[in-house]
Amino acid sequence: MIYNTLGKTNLEVSRLGFGTMRLPTKANNADIDKAEASRMLEYGIENGINIIDTAYPYHAEGLGGSGESEKFVGEFLAENSLRDEILLQTKSPSWAIEKESDFEFFLNEQLEKLQTDYIDIYLLHSLTVPDWEKVKNLNVFDFLDDALSDGRVKHVGFSSHIEVDHFIEILDEYPKWEVVLTQMNYLDEYYQSGIMGLNYLKELNIGSMIMEPLRGGRLVQNIPDEIQGLWDTAETRRSPVEWALQYLWNRDDVDCVLSGMTSLEQVKENIEIASKIDTISESDQELIREVARTYKTRLANRCTRCGYCMPCPHGVDIINCFTEYNIAHMMDNPKASAMQYFSLIDEDSRADCCLGCGECIPFCTQMLDIPEELEKVYEYFGDEFDHF
Ligand code: SF4
Ligand code: SF4
Repeated sequence: MIYNTLGKTNLEVSRLGFGTMRLPTKANNADIDKAEASRMLEYGIENGINIIDTAYPYHAEGLGGSGESEKFVGEFLAENSLRDEILLQTKSPSWAIEKESDFEFFLNEQLEKLQTDYIDIYLLHSLTVPDWEKVKNLNVFDFLDDALSDGRVKHVGFSSHIEVDHFIEILDEYPKWEVVLTQMNYLDEYYQSGIMGLNYLKELNIGSMIMEPLRGGRLVQNIPDEIQGLWDTAETRRSPVEWALQYLWNRDDVDCVLSGMTSLEQVKENIEIASKIDTISESDQELIREVARTYKTRLANRCTRCGYCMPCPHGVDIINCFTEYNIAHMMDNPKASAMQYFSLIDEDSRADCCLGCGECIPFCTQMLDIPEELEKVYEYFGDEFDHF
């Protein structure tokens, strides 16, 4: 494993962080397969991962509610006496803060779920511009100052999917930010805060953490022939996962990449890549840009499969509707995706079941108009497989 200094925190972090938002599950999203997830964490830690990332709503039953991920991580660390060996990062649910006392309420609940009396890195989760204004009016700075001074929280920061101008404003408004989590992968250099945001973090010596390094798996699954053909021209052969991760680890403004891993195989593969020094050359960079340009001509929408919009109160399987729709465009194979769409997605969960209530829209990290996009999915796939 290779370690980096996380900005001004001076913490030495493994450059691969263990994200716990996509742990293996059984009956539903809140039913974590604890045996398998424990095996994954054990392997990760034994092989050098020293930071675990979780959040209040990960693996929750309902939208934005209290999730099972923090509880699982807390149990795992306590049972294995690992709390003090591991850097623990979790996030305050900014969208759920309605009054000043809620900051304390959620932090206390999180400390309890995590079975600890301190959190190494505490982030305001998925800050939007309206939520930022709201939490400022509720004296978030006083809360953060208090939590830092009484030691319940060692370092503070935020995660966000906002545009760079707002991103910079937030950074400039509080001098105690030490860690920021943003979306970055080779398709998203100029999306949200992107490269300019990362550069600014470096200028301020704020630790940079990356989410969506594989764009919800999109960069490594169902690789179109056109894209594989481009990768095949590289002097150094790499798998799509290696390209995506080494692109990030070759950036000097990236300290830690969080990967939300779902299987032990993924943990093993990512650790192997994270443990290898692999220099991306100038010609590799040009090839990555060419791959990105080619991908962008193919995607139907920007869904990253993050799952923040789920579950839909009316049962729509938003993620898989968008996944099949996007894969159909990327692979240029509507029939194959239609087969998946009609066989894998239950009749009551397909795009045409969307009632357009809009409840999911504020949760979309990619600012998609989800009902409008679902309408396009319906237009594309229709009611039945027959017409393909
Ligand atoms: S807009 Fe559609 S997908 Fe979104 S919550 Fe409402 S019914 Fe579900
Ligand atoms: S629609 Fe938006 S919130 Fe839902 S999975 Fe896709 S990107 Fe995430």
